[in-house]
Amino acid sequence: MNDDFYLNFLDSSEKAIESNAGARNFALNAENEVNFKLSSSAISRFKAALRYTVENLDEELTRFENRFTNKHNAVFWATDYNDVFESLKKLFKVHKVKSVRLPNINNSTVFRELGIKYFLRDEKIALAEDGDMQFFNADRILSDTGAILLLNQTNNSFERLTNHKTNVFFTTIDRVLCNSDWVEMYQQLVSYNSGSGRQDMIVFRGSENCNNYLFIIDNQRSQLLKNKEIRQSMMCLQCGRCNDVCPVFQTIGEEPYNNVFVGPMANVTLPYLETIESYKHVMFACTLCGRCEEVCPISLPIREMIVESRHLLIAEGALDKMERRLLGVMRKMLLSRSKMNVSPFIKKHLLYKFISSDYRKSHRIPAFSKENFAKSYKKTIENGK
Ligand code: SF4
Ligand code: SF4
Repeated sequence: MNDDFYLNFLDSSEKAIESNAGARNFALNAENEVNFKLSSSAISRFKAALRYTVENLDEELTRFENRFTNKHNAVFWATDYNDVFESLKKLFKVHKVKSVRLPNINNSTVFRELGIKYFLRDEKIALAEDGDMQFFNADRILSDTGAILLLNQTNNSFERLTNHKTNVFFTTIDRVLCNSDWVEMYQQLVSYNSGSGRQDMIVFRGSENCNNYLFIIDNQRSQLLKNKEIRQSMMCLQCGRCNDVCPVFQTIGEEPYNNVFVGPMANVTLPYLETIESYKHVMFACTLCGRCEEVCPISLPIREMIVESRHLLIAEGALDKMERRLLGVMRKMLLSRSKMNVSPFIKKHLLYKFISSDYRKSHRIPAFSKENFAKSYKKTIENGK
């Protein structure tokens, strides 16, 4: 590997410490100077590492578990949130837990996905800054070192992690990174929404002072592995760039998703993570314009995946008679120049047949242009002259 891109964290981090267990923990804060360049060849190699991880997920997860597990660290495999909650109840008993420290829940998809706040409320476990147990969202797990990568944990510190008696980490099966050389590339690419360059990052392997439990949760993600095209969605960094440019998402907002996952990548994954029946509408929340792919730092073929999902939807006969009819009408319209040239008033009338009146009341439906694209384009060119 080119030295420019080889990131030696143990040298670059002043805060590197060595625990009695021999595991190294370190922080890489946003202000740390690093020898790092975002070149297209580095991104291609990073993407290859992500692809390798997804294609060899079972082996990489096992590799991680073997390196992470020792007498202070344990992994819990969870098929779904019920598995998580059953194991947590046992841990609460063993450690006599009455209160938990939970970081800002809004920053953590996995906590919102699990509904952890409601579980704790039902179990009568209080939330407290100095709780008996502390929960963390593990942004990535590193299979080559058995370390956990924590991003943007504003109030966290080594001291908090290494000196607390019991830490519980939560992650999902798609959050593995096979090579620690890429953690800074990851940090850089997911810091898009941080507003301040790179997010602070902690790489944690454990400490003799504390017990560390890690939940690795499937929650239907293994369904994404079944199809070669759709599998690529597991490479997503969840950086949010595509959400900001998608004209459909920017128009319809989060409401039609009714889920913690929203936007272009949710169009691909939700029908698999939930059911096709309940999420087939989001497969069509896309005009295939390609803006999401232009901004995606790892150029995921989002359109291809959406089209593949649509093929599966048809192949599985998941559209009812009315939906098939509506799609047939839309197809005829879109393929007919004379029909596309009808007045905006008629187009609006036809479009409204597809949209419920409740939705129309609560959302702004964009107006059709008074003239077709060819005419308005010609005018623009003429005016330009
Ligand atoms: S291709 Fe689809 S998902 Fe991507 S930006 Fe365009 S409308 Fe949104
Ligand atoms: S699809 Fe690409 S742009 Fe969208 S969240 Fe994933 S990595 Fe980011």
